[in-house]
Amino acid sequence: MFLCCLQRIYLMDIRGLTKFSLIDFPGKLACILYAGGCNFRCPYCHNPHLVLDHKTQPQLSEQFIFNFLETRKGKLEGVVLSGGEPSSHPGLVSFSEKIKALGYLIKIDTNGSNPDAIADAHVKGLVDALGIDYKTTASSYSDLTKCKIDNIAGLVHKTISYAIKNSITIDTRTTVHKKLHTPEVLLQMREELNSLSVSAWTLQQFHPADIIDDTLTSEPTYSDAELIEIARNLGNHTRVRGLKGSFIFNS
Ligand code: SF4
Repeated sequence: MFLCCLQRIYLMDIRGLTKFSLIDFPGKLACILYAGGCNFRCPYCHNPHLVLDHKTQPQLSEQFIFNFLETRKGKLEGVVLSGGEPSSHPGLVSFSEKIKALGYLIKIDTNGSNPDAIADAHVKGLVDALGIDYKTTASSYSDLTKCKIDNIAGLVHKTISYAIKNSITIDTRTTVHKKLHTPEVLLQMREELNSLSVSAWTLQQFHPADIIDDTLTSEPTYSDAELIEIARNLGNHTRVRGLKGSFIFNS
């Protein structure tokens, strides 16, 4: 009984809300809900407070979230579940069902580490789009993400393959820093994505803000022109998103 009450209260641990976005759910007006906690520690992560100490951030109650979504019906089209890592939360399906019941489309931004959770939500009709980060080459995945899960790159590949096989709209993207992503690394990543049948791939400019490894902010990274040249050479619809969030190269 007690457990049952807890599950009802903590369907998802939501620690942040962006009320309006034009860019996070391509083609849709959306809000973003940020789940607390993540099983990765990407050095360039822009949400360290959600990853390292999410319990210090105010938790949004379900009542607050669904009151907000009620008031935005007809104004917003979609909800982005981001984080942190939303697929790590056992309440992903039940929470998404409540969002769907209000008529919203759902996009899940995921690191791809939990393909079964994504598939479970998808077979229940709860996934309209996915944003999947492709962090680095398969052989470097554990090093970059500090994730201890066995075969983590294989799990990310499985999530991507599931999306492709089931014709789910996916936004595959990589935050690029010169120290982490040499041109050779990016070429290898492009080849791995090609082998997964991923065409569009977005290279996102590194944003020197509050991040997990702040030594990166003082290291040189690519200029826009350099990143565009790399994307042009990689081909197969590799594009570049600049610091203002819009595409500065779209092949
Ligand atoms: S997967 Fe996303 S939320 Fe998690 S550490 Fe990496 S960038 Fe941050």
